[in-house]
Amino acid sequence: MFKALMLNESTSGPIAQITQVQEAMLPEGDVLVAVSHSSLNYKDGLAIAGKSRVVKSYPMIPGIDFAGQVIESSNADFPVGAPVIHNGWGLGETRWGGYAEKARVNGSWLVKLPKAFTPEQAMAIGTAGYTAMLCVLRLEDAGVRPGDGPILVTGASGGVGSIAISLLSKLGYEVVALTGRMAESDYLTTLGAVRIIDRSGYNSAGKPLTKETWAGAVDSAGGTILANVLAACRYGACVAACGLAGGMDLPTTVAPFILRGVTLAGVDSVYAPIAQRERAWTRMATDLPFEKLEQVSSTITLDEVIATAPKILAGQVRGRMVVKVA
Ligand code: NDP
Repeated sequence: MFKALMLNESTSGPIAQITQVQEAMLPEGDVLVAVSHSSLNYKDGLAIAGKSRVVKSYPMIPGIDFAGQVIESSNADFPVGAPVIHNGWGLGETRWGGYAEKARVNGSWLVKLPKAFTPEQAMAIGTAGYTAMLCVLRLEDAGVRPGDGPILVTGASGGVGSIAISLLSKLGYEVVALTGRMAESDYLTTLGAVRIIDRSGYNSAGKPLTKETWAGAVDSAGGTILANVLAACRYGACVAACGLAGGMDLPTTVAPFILRGVTLAGVDSVYAPIAQRERAWTRMATDLPFEKLEQVSSTITLDEVIATAPKILAGQVRGRMVVKVA
């Protein structure tokens, strides 16, 4: 038996409880992992609240990522004792996830834990941080360079936003933070933002094109905010879009694309190919300032997840939240 957070279906939505699970109930897979840490992401909040149909079947152990150590394996790439990370691949959505002391997965989904990180640090980065790195890589691949002009980070105080600011600042970009929490200005400045903008100015529908301002952006908001970011892009800018904290819709026009050559680069972490994941985690080891990781993250226990999950949906969680599982 092992301890897990389990979601069961009811007519009024999922019921979450901490329970004991038999190892034999775990899904098929060639690697069994003793999970030491997971993290609380926006999508985990949605799963526990029963929103956005994140969970496709019940009962479900949520938790879209984990770090731990292999305890049984028939996969030569991940022998017993190997420290590993798992992000996405339907974990916590279609497949039992990281909020459990044990997880059985396919070795082809795992990434070796880079030597630079402890499992706890890897989950302080977690899916949100790895997604932030995927966004930075998209900007780089589109040719956006430090010195080209300011880069806007939306959802700045959140997980993706906080790590994106830390990374971009370390890489020498001029980072501007868009936030609904101006009270977090000192925090955002410490992470490396040179200017903080109140998101209220981006919340309502604007013109198809506005003053050319941003050389690039990392957007975790979507909706009207993303439309306004696109409208304010400079000629040739790239916006890496990964989230929907502000809305699923995108009320924009083709003007930024056909008149300013703006690129809207979609970023998905869940089914990103292994090569892209390894590239992101390798770059994380060199480009993420470790001292900022400490400022960005806090830790809760598995028992505290159910009470904390609604806060991430309410935009009340700052930075990243590690879940200590064992
Ligand atoms: P967080 O909750 O940690 O951060 C989201 C931030 O968005 C909040 O902290 C807040 O920042 C801002 N925000 C909250 N509500 C609104 C709103 N109504 N309008 C605009 N901004 C808002 O979540 P994560 O960082 O974990 O994830 C951010 C988004 O990215 C989510 O939508 C998530 O689903 C998505 N995501 C996508 C991935 C992918 O593979 N594509 C992977 C990981 C995340 P502030 O108070 O500073 O404004």
